[in-house]
Amino acid sequence: MKIPSVEKFSRDLATETVESVRSASVAKVDARSNALKIAFDDLEGARTQAAQIKDYVLDNLPNLLPQLELKCRLNGIEVHWAKNASSARKTILEICKAAAPEGGSIVKAKSMATEEIHLNKHLIKNGYEVVETDLGEYVVQIDDDTPSHIVTPIIHKNRKQVAKSFEREGLGPYTEVPSELAMQARHHLREKFREAKIGISGVNFAVAESGRIVLVENEGNNRLSTTAPDVHIAVMGLEKVLPSETDLPLFLRLLAGSATGQQMTTYIHMISGPRRKDEMDGPKEVHLVILDNGRSKVLNGPYKEILRCIRCGACLNVCPVYRQASGHAYNNVYSGPLGAVLGPALEGVEKLPDLAKASTLCGSCEEVCPVKIPIPRMLLQLREEANRKGLVKEMIPWSMFSVGSTSGFRWRLGLKMLPLAPIAKHPAKSGWEEFKDLPTKEGRDFRKWWNGRS
Ligand code: SF4
Repeated sequence: MKIPSVEKFSRDLATETVESVRSASVAKVDARSNALKIAFDDLEGARTQAAQIKDYVLDNLPNLLPQLELKCRLNGIEVHWAKNASSARKTILEICKAAAPEGGSIVKAKSMATEEIHLNKHLIKNGYEVVETDLGEYVVQIDDDTPSHIVTPIIHKNRKQVAKSFEREGLGPYTEVPSELAMQARHHLREKFREAKIGISGVNFAVAESGRIVLVENEGNNRLSTTAPDVHIAVMGLEKVLPSETDLPLFLRLLAGSATGQQMTTYIHMISGPRRKDEMDGPKEVHLVILDNGRSKVLNGPYKEILRCIRCGACLNVCPVYRQASGHAYNNVYSGPLGAVLGPALEGVEKLPDLAKASTLCGSCEEVCPVKIPIPRMLLQLREEANRKGLVKEMIPWSMFSVGSTSGFRWRLGLKMLPLAPIAKHPAKSGWEEFKDLPTKEGRDFRKWWNGRS
């Protein structure tokens, strides 16, 4: 039997990991609901408005992106276009080589776009020390791990595991007190901010009207990464553009509430270019790398609406499959319901044919999505596409059911043999029986009753 990779992965997952993911997800779901209730009198209306703005963006990228480029250039921000991951890496490396030809430290704020293009490895291979400065990403880096959630990269780890990693790395004495762990990381990272000539960040929104890059965060590491070094490189997927500054309040409140259950994030950075002549600090150069990497293809296909995504992570937190399997099970940078659509949409269903099966289709992801992405509908489309292309085989129990239920003779024979099912050994039953008992036949025989009725 071909087992979907997510299912197989979740079976082998340590109980400790499942518990970490589950408890953090549940807490986030509650926090989201409370925050959004306070933030919006009409949450449904706000979600509809946000979805409409994003649809406008997706339909008008040929106008909005050149406008963003022009306004950014007027602000002194250099704009670079990257068709795919390798051209993005090449461009970023060239900027780094111009700023620090002998190598050196690069401080990095959390960015899914840079995860997507596997930037760190490339820069390290070319002689740079890349230091993740988001606390969660820092733990991922020192543990040689990968993020398992787009907002909370170490949702799969607990406090004890983080404490052990910090002790192992010599950051300080073993402690499980969160504030002490944060202080240890802060002390270590502060030096890195001082040393680094280059800072790299993602982009939450880029405003076409003003040419401003907007970043949200809670730790302050984004601010230091984008202002302490001489050169700031921001990397964004081309769908992150917003038409106008007046769109920002809606999206900032929806993102904070949906991602972390806050009314507003602790820091909001509106970057309008490099340091001006009369300013005492800030970078000397700001570069914006606009990444396509398959998005243009998605824009013209059936999964276009997934590009409305603002990377809040709410669909991951609410998903019963994600909670049981964790983000690593998706074998992709983007996990959960978002990843189950965006992964195959960007990379092709041929590469990730099983991901669309990693859903119960309960619809919770669509219910919580701040931009109302119809994820269940797209998962069904992906399943259909994978089936049509012969990329997935129906699981054996369903194939057997299909064979049995399409012929009267086979169906009757199957019913006669049903009492033998609990004792029969078949690989198709393994796994199923860990959680469920096979049903036994009960009550009268319908056919006998039907045939014998007067
Ligand atoms: S798909 Fe919707 S809920 Fe999921 S991360 Fe994106 S915006 Fe958030």
